[in-house]
Amino acid sequence: PTSQTLTDTTIHRRKTRSVPVGSISIGSDHPVAVQSMINEDTLDIDGSVAAIRRLHEIGCEIVRVTVPSMAHAKAMEEIRDRLYKTYQPVPLVADVHHNGMKIALEVAKYVDNVRINPGLYVFEKPKTSEYTQAEFDAIGEKIRETLEPLVISLRDQNKSMRIGVNHGSLAERMLFTYGDTPEGMVESALEFIRICESLNFYNIELSLKASKVPVMLAANRLMVQRMNAEGMAYPLHLGVTEAGDGEYGRIKSTAGIGTLLAEGIGDTIRVSLTEAPEKEIPVCYGILQALGLRRTMVEYVACPSCGRTLFNLEEVLQKVREATSHLTGLNIAVMGCIVNGPGEMADADYGYVGKQAGYISLYRGREEIKKVPEDQGVAELINLIKSDGKWVEPK
Ligand code: SF4
Repeated sequence: PTSQTLTDTTIHRRKTRSVPVGSISIGSDHPVAVQSMINEDTLDIDGSVAAIRRLHEIGCEIVRVTVPSMAHAKAMEEIRDRLYKTYQPVPLVADVHHNGMKIALEVAKYVDNVRINPGLYVFEKPKTSEYTQAEFDAIGEKIRETLEPLVISLRDQNKSMRIGVNHGSLAERMLFTYGDTPEGMVESALEFIRICESLNFYNIELSLKASKVPVMLAANRLMVQRMNAEGMAYPLHLGVTEAGDGEYGRIKSTAGIGTLLAEGIGDTIRVSLTEAPEKEIPVCYGILQALGLRRTMVEYVACPSCGRTLFNLEEVLQKVREATSHLTGLNIAVMGCIVNGPGEMADADYGYVGKQAGYISLYRGREEIKKVPEDQGVAELINLIKSDGKWVEPK
């Protein structure tokens, strides 16, 4: 989908529109934004304000809240006011569920973006046979009538809408017509996009999520292809739903999100874990850093260790990390020996390399600076960084 060539070592992101979400924008040349969702009941105003702030402070740039009733929608007014008065304007997205047009219209006054799920527009009586074209179109017309006021409200406030399609909740007639497939997901999104465009509303962000990584990959790739064919360029929010927890939850999310980002697809991401939302943020930034899309941490290069390793690599890496992890932007290598270490630490700014029993060598780039006893290694590394003027005190 992008102009990526086989020899490119940087990712060329797909060109998209720039879409506002409160104080930030997504798509175009804006950095891939990190987002998550609070678990608090939105009626718990103190709890929600604290949770939104907690997430934002650790780097969650867009926070989603769930708004299942009118009371929840109204509570968002106070949540927003408190955030603005006691903290700062955090970009907020409200998730509005089925039969929620009145709720969506209310909450659109208080948040920056309203997320709707095309699958939850319940106009459809369960059927046992295929839809005729006339039946299909009649439902489409009802959807248009229902969606219109929200589109107009968001358009007139210069706010945005996420059309968030989930593989697990496709609308009945999409299921009958296209099956439980990426095509069904894409057609669902396109139907809603067309309604928005007919009302001159283009502040649209799309998401096509699935809990199966290959389905999520196919849906997003197909969406991009269809958008290209129709001259549309809306930003995409990426995520793998119900990824679970722990190591596999992270791997699964990375497999889906990372694969698309590497192809230049994706403008905002969420790693959905069955853990506290705060746990999702470092994973998002880790994916973005690994792909070279954002730089928010020290990049550590470390060898896996082997029979040649001259010190306890795990322990030393841990110590180096504790001492330097606040020095955003640096590349630091910790390598077990001088046989392969210096060559393989790539373009690290500094290297800590096993030299001989009891001694390590410190490197600046590829240049060996000095040999020091191992027990002074970390302190001497810090001195070297200080002497180069690249040290800042940790907060
Ligand atoms: Fe082994 Fe040295 Fe390579 Fe580390 S750098 S894996 S110690 S050969």
